[in-house]
Amino acid sequence: MGDAVFTPDIGFVRGLKEGGADTMKQCYQCATCSTVCDLTPADNPFPRKEMIMAQWGLKEELSADPDIWLCHNCNDCSKYCPRGARPGDVLSTLRKAVIAENAFPRFMGTIVGNAKLLIVALLIPVALFLALLNATGHLNIPAGDVVFNKFFPIPLVDAIFVTTAMCVVFVFAISVSRFWGKLNVNPYKLMAHSMLIPSLIETLKEIVFHKKFQKCGANADRTWTHRLIVAGFIGLFIQTNWAVFNLYVLKWETPFLKDDPNMMMILGSQAAVMMYYAVYKIFGNTSALLLLIGSLMLFANRIKDKGVNSVSSSFDWVFAVMVFLVCITGLLSEFCRFANNAQVAYPMYFIHLVCVFYIIAYLPYSKLAHMVYRTTAIVYAKMAKRDVM
Ligand code: SF4
Ligand code: SF4
Repeated sequence: MGDAVFTPDIGFVRGLKEGGADTMKQCYQCATCSTVCDLTPADNPFPRKEMIMAQWGLKEELSADPDIWLCHNCNDCSKYCPRGARPGDVLSTLRKAVIAENAFPRFMGTIVGNAKLLIVALLIPVALFLALLNATGHLNIPAGDVVFNKFFPIPLVDAIFVTTAMCVVFVFAISVSRFWGKLNVNPYKLMAHSMLIPSLIETLKEIVFHKKFQKCGANADRTWTHRLIVAGFIGLFIQTNWAVFNLYVLKWETPFLKDDPNMMMILGSQAAVMMYYAVYKIFGNTSALLLLIGSLMLFANRIKDKGVNSVSSSFDWVFAVMVFLVCITGLLSEFCRFANNAQVAYPMYFIHLVCVFYIIAYLPYSKLAHMVYRTTAIVYAKMAKRDVM
């Protein structure tokens, strides 16, 4: 840390303690955590130094510290900490603080980061959807067979979610540029000869294949939770784009009919149409199931750790619950549609869309923002020759 003059931020310390790092003051700097961590570089290792920086309230230094993102939250360090200071939880709380600090607009970071304001975060899409349904004359349960398009027209759904996705990209661009600017003043300076693209490719390979996480010892089995959640999200992302391609490029509307002339013209027979429909549905449902199993494993891990190695923050629980709700409401909507139960199917679909909105619209402020912040920090660390394991 050199000869720099540090400015402790007492409010920051208080926020960390309230946010899940309440045990950090128990740390007496024995360095067991840094010794057992399989991911830390040997030079200037974490998380011991972050523990003392957090105790001192060194907010600026911690905001500029890529090391808190090199941690994969396995909690091996917390398991072996002789003082029960839970360094894994402290780093997790620090990451949450960095996400809130770089959020744009800031108040959204506060709303999504505070579980007590969950109801506010959910009321925003509820009010928006009700207003849009009312304005388009769809605020009712349609008569006849259950077809979601009759209740919430697909162009309206697409307009909401395409606009939301564009806003998310814009918000991330601002937040990540703020974050990158802070990283670039830390002791690990970017090397002039380092390259962005190779570092990014290497980082993405590490994340997709969980190369780093597998190095964690006692809790390495958690890679399967992450793998299932990542696979589920990627599968649902592919299926969403597949649906858009079907509708807007091929002009194939759901629910697919076996004698749809547009489909018959390209696929040639009713059997081929039904086969296409089956593959499409199986792919989507399998992705949802992977996500559902992953979210249940997330619950199981958190309950198993409760009060032992880790105390899950409400931030983590809200994320796990919302992922679970997205899956379960999506699957229930589909079952109710097959059962042709309009009174349950349409409200369930409405709830499903609210949950999907929560996951997508609040991505830059929620637990999922880790994907982007961690990727950015690891790329930075590689370019600064900090993360070369
Ligand atoms: S967090 Fe625990 S293991 Fe790490 S330095 Fe502090 S007391 Fe030691
Ligand atoms: S939680 Fe795991 S990766 Fe993070 S500092 Fe502790 S031991 Fe290292």
